[in-house]
Amino acid sequence: MSKSKCPHCGAEMDPIEMPLESSWGGEIHHVCFNDECCYFKSSWTALENQGIEQTGYRCRMDPRGASGPMAVWSSDALKDQVCKSGSQS
Ligand SMILES: [Zn+2]
Repeated sequence: MSKSKCPHCGAEMDPIEMPLESSWGGEIHHVCFNDECCYFKSSWTALENQGIEQTGYRCRMDPRGASGPMAVWSSDALKDQVCKSGSQS
């Protein structure tokens, strides 16, 4: 199976395991972690215009191939949740 690519910037998306308490609990979704992604970069001002500050979103794709926003509170948010394949220990 080929890696998912971001429909907005073409970067390879990284798999993250969704928190069990979320509505996608336990599913693996792919998220674009490219900080230069136009979708991510424009999200901050888009939300600010809606009165939501200090929040942005990245492009997320679910296992069924549907994409949508994944809210983040900083450019480093969620990066520690990326599933590393072949991680040691
Ligand atoms: Zn992207």
